[in-house]
Amino acid sequence: MPGRDTTLYGGNTTCLEVRFESGQTVIIDAGTGIRRLGEGLQERNGMGPAALLITHVHWDHIIGFPFFATGLKPGTELLVDGHPNAMMGLQHTLDNPMGGGYFPVDIEDLEIHIKHLNRIARQPLELDGAIVDGIPLRHPQGGLGFRLREGGRTLVFITDNELADEEALEEYASFCAGADILIHDAQYAPEEMPARRGWGHSDYEAALEVARRAGVGRLMLFHHDPARTDAELKAFELLCRDLAEKRKWDVTVEAAREDAEIHLGGDSP
Ligand SMILES: [Zn+2]
Ligand SMILES: [Zn+2]
Repeated sequence: MPGRDTTLYGGNTTCLEVRFESGQTVIIDAGTGIRRLGEGLQERNGMGPAALLITHVHWDHIIGFPFFATGLKPGTELLVDGHPNAMMGLQHTLDNPMGGGYFPVDIEDLEIHIKHLNRIARQPLELDGAIVDGIPLRHPQGGLGFRLREGGRTLVFITDNELADEEALEEYASFCAGADILIHDAQYAPEEMPARRGWGHSDYEAALEVARRAGVGRLMLFHHDPARTDAELKAFELLCRDLAEKRKWDVTVEAAREDAEIHLGGDSP
């Protein structure tokens, strides 16, 4: 929800860009944030080989696609993978040959080449030496979380996931084991959870617990509640840090901010 109260952490919905040393780009989700990412990619003269991985097709994760796809250079190749519904969801954001008036551009008229793989729900995806694994989400209508590895570096991205019980904590901790950073859903505070059970999101305490069990030293709180203001998020971030400190857990905590850049190891800045 862009506005006066979201200038610090940002108000756009889910979109991440992961750039690998190989030159491969992976974009995760096509929320409203993908429009500006598209502009940035054009400024940098295209994006090289790119894959778009969709966690699931709830609107906040795909609604930016038409504004991205129509801005790409003609001939751009885009690989689509992720949740089995990914391609269907992206198609629904544009108009289709049957009409309906959703968007002035028909999916058939896009001048880019989309290749739909639909592999990652069943087996790891290899992208120029990097490996991407998927894990099913505990979220209404399902979804996928991703672990991306290149060389010795690992990033795990899990959003729209409810860490509701011991079994879930264990399952996701083992998927995250040894990662350099975990970006996890932390839409709520622990005290807000009882009224939000079954909504498919987590609180920061549960996300922190997964990071601790997985031995991950860096946690990014993600998928902020659209009603949360900058001031409230700042407090949220501090509360989670305090909790880690109080329990003497060696986990650095930060709340996701729009345009934040993270560099994992290596020499390049
Ligand atoms: Zn969702
Ligand atoms: Zn969502």
